[in-house]
Amino acid sequence: MTQGATFQSHLPATGAISGTFPIDGDSQVHSAVLAARNASSTWQELGHSGRRKVLLAWSKLLINRIDECAALISEETGKPTSDARLEVTLAIGHLAWAARNAHEVLRPQYRSPGILMANMAATVERSPLGVVGVIGPWNYPIFTPMGSISYALAAGNTVVFKPSEFTPGVGVWLAKTFSEIAPNADIFRVVTGLGDTGRALCESGVNKLAFTGSTKTAKVVAATCAKTMTPVILECGGKDPVLVASDADVKTAADFTLWSSMSNAGQTCIGAERVYVDEKVADEFISTMVELGKKITPGAPGHGNYGPATMPKQLEIIQSHITDALNRGGQALLGGKDSVKAPFVEPVILVNVPEDSIAMQDETFGPTIIINRVKSMDEAIALSNASRYGLGASVWSKRHGKEIASQLQCGMVAINSTISFAAVASVPFGGVKDSGYGRIHGPEGLLEFTYARTIVRARFQIPLSFTSFRRSAFADRIIVGVIKLLHGRSIG
Ligand code: NDP
Repeated sequence: MTQGATFQSHLPATGAISGTFPIDGDSQVHSAVLAARNASSTWQELGHSGRRKVLLAWSKLLINRIDECAALISEETGKPTSDARLEVTLAIGHLAWAARNAHEVLRPQYRSPGILMANMAATVERSPLGVVGVIGPWNYPIFTPMGSISYALAAGNTVVFKPSEFTPGVGVWLAKTFSEIAPNADIFRVVTGLGDTGRALCESGVNKLAFTGSTKTAKVVAATCAKTMTPVILECGGKDPVLVASDADVKTAADFTLWSSMSNAGQTCIGAERVYVDEKVADEFISTMVELGKKITPGAPGHGNYGPATMPKQLEIIQSHITDALNRGGQALLGGKDSVKAPFVEPVILVNVPEDSIAMQDETFGPTIIINRVKSMDEAIALSNASRYGLGASVWSKRHGKEIASQLQCGMVAINSTISFAAVASVPFGGVKDSGYGRIHGPEGLLEFTYARTIVRARFQIPLSFTSFRRSAFADRIIVGVIKLLHGRSIG
């Protein structure tokens, strides 16, 4: 990397330059990580109550400057400012929850030592990892990375964050606001640049790396981190299904599913990508989706229901999915092959698309939705689970929601709602299969950024010593006898 090299972020609707940022290379990334490491003791010495005060002050500052933040998000992603404001509120909710609950979730736990070890006191402490690296995407440039940053900080770690090259301004703004209230700005540092800056962060010796983005890059990140045994959390893409049963509130299901698939120009990892609707209510569901879909349009912020594709090269992927689906027998009931009008994509509703088409197999990440009819919810469950992804899902049924949800191979399910699990701070967020592993949000999200330290203390010494070369034949008989007594009886 050339010393002093820079890159620019752009307004996706016009291509106009929005800002210029340094391309941080290995040495800048390493010095940011070193600075964050040096700040660790200040942050850890504050304890839970001190950190809670700082993080709640930060959340208050973010609330006070929500319009400034939303304007910046809207500028860099192209999304409507109202959506950007909603995104900031969700991020603040998580920050405040993590700050308020870290003490309770991470307090030492006392465990029963068991009869054989009755003279011991067993405790499990949770210790911060040290420095956490966060690599973020551009689709939700504050909500998504804050799902890791907030929980990592609340758990006592310091953080180095590398935002997407499409949204560096949001990342820099976040760090600047933190520095205004923090005892030491190095507790939360930002590095900017392209993919190579992310690679440098993976190699920097951070104690854990939390990544959100594509499955393809996630595999590269995991392989890079493996070289230094750096543990990773991977939040990757999805092909989230919506299952609509015959007893669903069909109109609400159609309304919410349309929003889930098209809002943010379809660039939502947990957004609806495919629908399996019971054939008994399929006509009503499909016609409602199409009627509602006709009323929404893309546009620059202030002019449409959703914005342009934030990342120009995504347009080719969206086009290829639509073309393949139609060439293979799918039908377009709204939009079609001509709906991609760079930088915008008009709403596309497809039906009867073969399950093995790329539009059903891969993440489209555009304002498109595929609706296929099924004979039963068993068929819908089987088709949902046939995907290589397993991030989120949505189930619409008045009586069987939980029963269906429990059979889905994915990390999160919303019943009679859409993406609701992302807004509930007390529940974990993450996927299975190609959608990644590890969890952010909730108690699991706090635990993810700590390690367990087991401490077992002898409260008094017993006359029989088992862990000594002086162990006697009598002690041998005692230990076998006690084990037989405890575990040697009939199973049950
Ligand atoms: P990527 O997965 O390529 O990028 C995500 C983040 O990783 C960015 O900050 C990126 O930096 C960084 N990165 C890139 N290469 C490396 C590397 N070798 N080592 C470490 N970090 C790296 O996603 P894209 O933004 O390119 O989007 C591609 C596809 O990913 C989309 O089409 C969409 O399907 C999916 N996606 C899914 C998201 C989700 O939330 N599930 C979010 C975003 C995208 P930089 O931006 O500078 O290249």
